Amino acid sequence: MIPVEDALQKILNTVHVLEPETRPILSALDQVLAEDVVARFDIPPHDNSAMDGFAVRASDTHGAGIQSPIYLKVIGEVAAGYTTSTKIISGTTVRIMTGAPLPAGADAVVQFENTDETERKKQKQPLDTIGILEPAKPGLNVRPKGEDIRAGQVVLTKGTLLHPAGIGILASLGKENATVIRRPVVSVLSTGDELRPSGKTLAPGQIYDSNSYTIAANIARCGGVARIIGIGRDTLASLQEKIRHGLNADMLITSGGVSKGDYDVVKDVLAQMGNVSFWTVRMKPGKPIAFGTLQTDNGRNVPHLGLPGNPVSSMITFEQFARPAILKMRGIARHTRPVIYAAIDQEIVNEDSRRIYARVRVTRKENGWTASVTGPQGSGILSSMAEANGLAIVPEDWALARPGDILKVQLLYDTEETL
Ligand code: AMP
Ligand code: MG
Repeated sequence: MIPVEDALQKILNTVHVLEPETRPILSALDQVLAEDVVARFDIPPHDNSAMDGFAVRASDTHGAGIQSPIYLKVIGEVAAGYTTSTKIISGTTVRIMTGAPLPAGADAVVQFENTDETERKKQKQPLDTIGILEPAKPGLNVRPKGEDIRAGQVVLTKGTLLHPAGIGILASLGKENATVIRRPVVSVLSTGDELRPSGKTLAPGQIYDSNSYTIAANIARCGGVARIIGIGRDTLASLQEKIRHGLNADMLITSGGVSKGDYDVVKDVLAQMGNVSFWTVRMKPGKPIAFGTLQTDNGRNVPHLGLPGNPVSSMITFEQFARPAILKMRGIARHTRPVIYAAIDQEIVNEDSRRIYARVRVTRKENGWTASVTGPQGSGILSSMAEANGLAIVPEDWALARPGDILKVQLLYDTEETL
């Protein structure tokens, strides 16, 4: 048996970051930038007003107050999206809207509320003069040119995962496209004579293929593009044909056929088509997995991950091995799930010194997190996986976890709403 870490390391050493592609910024969401993004101009491009109000020379407003307004002559108006050539000299002001460039000569903006404009309108007084009711310091309500981004600055570095704010920065730099690491295409192949696709009727002894769906859904969650190949029968010819079809991708994930019983057919096919090792990994569920590379007809090597067939085993091994591999191909170095420490609510016996991944539902209690085992833990019991929002880890060297013991829990979902 090899430790989980060794298996993961071997997998990560074999898969590579994919090449860049250029695509419209919005569709580059959740992809990793393949180059630095440098600003060619300042943002904001000019000093501008943070308020609706009056652009003034701060020195003109000394001593202004409700009882002692300072009257300025209104010599113009400027809205966002326009500029004004009017220059403010002592004793004058320009009415200004949020986002409008500051007129030359002004160094502060007095917001409407601190002027007598409303009062004047009520009294139907002329608006060519305005009373300032509060003194302004230089810079008041002014957003200086370049306060967000400076020309020449590297705003987003290569390797950055593009979130909505990053997309916004690209947009504010006027960019239509971004150069990002492309998403991996991952083929999904289920194997087993007993499997039928959903929507078809079952003959005695048959079951529906669920792994193609859980795996494809997880690939999508990891930011990959799933290509469902279908079901390979446990025969040389069928497997060969399906696998060959599946190699038209960045990675192939199969499930089933790697445990002792059906080892041979799969093993023969994989040995013929590439270089694959079978590992028994020190984990539960999910002991048997296969990993290696398979060659396409034109000599390209495609990483292949062979997951166990049991529905929960395939999901948990996907979590530990396929997810990190897909993230690496996407250019994301950090592949661990968020982890919390939680008190387990029932005993878990570790019979054979493997690392146990127990399906749990974590909840936040007053004195910390609690992890409740979601039900029977058989590796074919998908319903207890569906209930779980985390995997509680019982270490290899623990013979037993007792109720109340604190276990590390990998969170399966990103948001707290699901906790
Ligand atoms: P295997 O690893 O092929 O020996 O399969 C182990 C168990 O998982 C068997 O009970 C299979 O019927 C079941 N199994 C294998 N593949 C799938 C699948 N795609 N969907 C649902 N169950 C499966
Ligand atoms: Mg099978």
